[in-house]
Amino acid sequence: MTPIFARKALLPDGWADDVLLRINDGLIEEVLPGAAPDDGTVATGCIIPGLCNAHSHAFQRALAGRTEERSPAGRDSFWTWRERMYELAAMLDPDLLGAIARQVYTEMLQSGYTTVVEFHYMHRDPATKSAGMGMFEALTAAARQTGIRLTYVPVLYERAGFHAPQPEGPQELFALSLEQFLEHHDEAAGRQSDKLSVGIGAHSLRAVSAPSLAAIAEAGRKAGGPIHLHIAEQQREVDQCLAAYERRPVRWLLENAGVDEQWCLVHATHMDADETQRLASSGAVVCVCPSTEANLGDGLFPLADYLAHGGRLAIGSDSHISINPFEELRWLEYGQRLATHSRNVTSFRTAHVGRELFERAVEGGARASGQKTAGLARGAPADLVALYDDDPMLTGHGHESRLDALVFSGYRLPIEGVMVHGDWLVADGEHTCGTESRDAFRAAIAALGAKR
Ligand code: ZN
Repeated sequence: MTPIFARKALLPDGWADDVLLRINDGLIEEVLPGAAPDDGTVATGCIIPGLCNAHSHAFQRALAGRTEERSPAGRDSFWTWRERMYELAAMLDPDLLGAIARQVYTEMLQSGYTTVVEFHYMHRDPATKSAGMGMFEALTAAARQTGIRLTYVPVLYERAGFHAPQPEGPQELFALSLEQFLEHHDEAAGRQSDKLSVGIGAHSLRAVSAPSLAAIAEAGRKAGGPIHLHIAEQQREVDQCLAAYERRPVRWLLENAGVDEQWCLVHATHMDADETQRLASSGAVVCVCPSTEANLGDGLFPLADYLAHGGRLAIGSDSHISINPFEELRWLEYGQRLATHSRNVTSFRTAHVGRELFERAVEGGARASGQKTAGLARGAPADLVALYDDDPMLTGHGHESRLDALVFSGYRLPIEGVMVHGDWLVADGEHTCGTESRDAFRAAIAALGAKR
């Protein structure tokens, strides 16, 4: 395809000027800094790598903005929100899920995410209760229609809690036996392609027994993709885990599951200092979802301590209360500032917080999605974001502070184009199929409203 010429590009070893990127078959074939444009190249102002959204429950986008009113009892929490989420899950079918996911993936691409990790436990069609591949196919179709790179992570949900061997109520829609689950994983893995890869996971320690978790880890090691689970989102989970396993969740997992670089722990929110240090040293990635964790009142991830010990980091928009990677990065830092009454906390590799957070999210996101290469490097997927470098947000910023401006100073993102696997999917800030996605989403929301 036609090479791309960028006046500025963020490469793995830093910003470079006048960069020519040659792309072939969806991959970056050549990166040439200090090049000159020719008549055939596509010129852009400024190019950065696309980000990975390392934790998504696409269907929950239909709940965004609909759970922000106080209940009559006045004791709203993660657990009361979960009841509302279960009500939504029980109304879905593959068509509705597909329409919602399509809009979610469109919004992700428009905000600079080029990969999504879909953490999926809704294995049964609520209408038929059957556990086929319908929901998987709805998600993969949405990814194909929008062009986003998808890492599908089926997760097992087999019980209601540490001492509740059966799933309860709406959880029955999620439930598979371990054998059914491993078959589902293998079926999905057999359908991998250039832009679809498959990981494996467990919903949480409370929802999966220790023997089943061991079987999932073993299957994950054999398959080689990422292994994901929710680990310690709520204090109640920590208390239940202590009562059942005599260990806090992160400590139990580190002592029992062989956690290494293949693992991605989502919401490692509640950790003591020892767990934080040991998890950081394990090589695993932690996926933090700041906007959802704030929205649900989860707690504050011990970011500074974790990074100080060498921890790896990815971000996710999880419930999709907000879909904007730069907002997630901003709130990672703001949480630390509010907690420590100081500024510029996330600055372990460079003095520039925005740049450090962005680069960590690129590296950690690649690991969490099972990609072998990260960033705009030779051999990496051609997944990138072109920015308007004359936008007021970026005007006058040099290499040092450009990403700080992007992370901290804006609401409207100065995104010109987004490319995945060598294809421009977003042009002038709009997804090329944005209208179709919006129309399908509107119809899905109306259909859900009619079911209530
Ligand atoms: Zn989640």
